[in-house]
Amino acid sequence: MALTFLAVHAHPDDEASSTGGLLRLLANEGVRTVLVTCTNGEYGDAPGGLKPTDDGHDPDEVAEMRRGELDEAAAILGVSRLVRLGYRDSGMMGWAPNEDPRSFWSTPVELAADALGVVLAEERPQVIVTYNEVGFYGHPDHIQAHRITQAAIERLDYEPTLYYNAIPASVMKLYEARWAEEERRRREADAAKGIVREADPAEEPEGIDMATPDELIDVSVDISSVAGAKYDALAAHHSQIGGSFWIQQGREAFVAESTREWFVRARNPLGLSQSASDIFVGYR
Ligand SMILES: [Zn+2]
Repeated sequence: MALTFLAVHAHPDDEASSTGGLLRLLANEGVRTVLVTCTNGEYGDAPGGLKPTDDGHDPDEVAEMRRGELDEAAAILGVSRLVRLGYRDSGMMGWAPNEDPRSFWSTPVELAADALGVVLAEERPQVIVTYNEVGFYGHPDHIQAHRITQAAIERLDYEPTLYYNAIPASVMKLYEARWAEEERRRREADAAKGIVREADPAEEPEGIDMATPDELIDVSVDISSVAGAKYDALAAHHSQIGGSFWIQQGREAFVAESTREWFVRARNPLGLSQSASDIFVGYR
């Protein structure tokens, strides 16, 4: 059977951070890989590290820059087909751009599901990955990606196996320590430049547990053979991630520690019950 995998992501760079290893691995195995990116990422960082709330941040300029970065990352990951739905980034929950009628968040689910549905009907993927109902961490565009994926699947004449990306609780503990360290360093660097930034409460995913209990992980993919490509794909998004710990630690250290990606089964037409290391378990 010809295998097709499809990932639905919210912004340029999400494909690399949560499925970069999986995409490259599947491409190496000869699986057709389709990447759907819902928004243009207008509310990412602008050139010079300007944050979306800073003066001089030009959302359209950011989108243009990120377009090239996504092309580069998709090439590195061997993506067979890249589809941009072209919606406008909604920004973080509670931001004014949420209300922009062009934003992904303001777009009716049924309308965006039409656009995604065309791609699903053309590609007929056996396996789809997106985010859970809280968008993994509460970002409106990630929540909307979840909603349109579920709605588009409902319209198919078959049921694909759907997975949500996940981080096991044991790994999340390590990440949280790292994020706290990054935040501390960022504040120090800002303070050295005389910049005082208020902590934005909208950026804190309140009441959302991003960790999945280890025993509830359904698929744990060994990406160690392609971790270098994952690093390169992340690095391609240099305007967003270039200064992050992930990139700053260097390729070798990244490869040494980035050995897995994890997924939880959300639609299970094959009735699978065992945990697996292959996201196409049951199909080959
Ligand atoms: Zn995102």
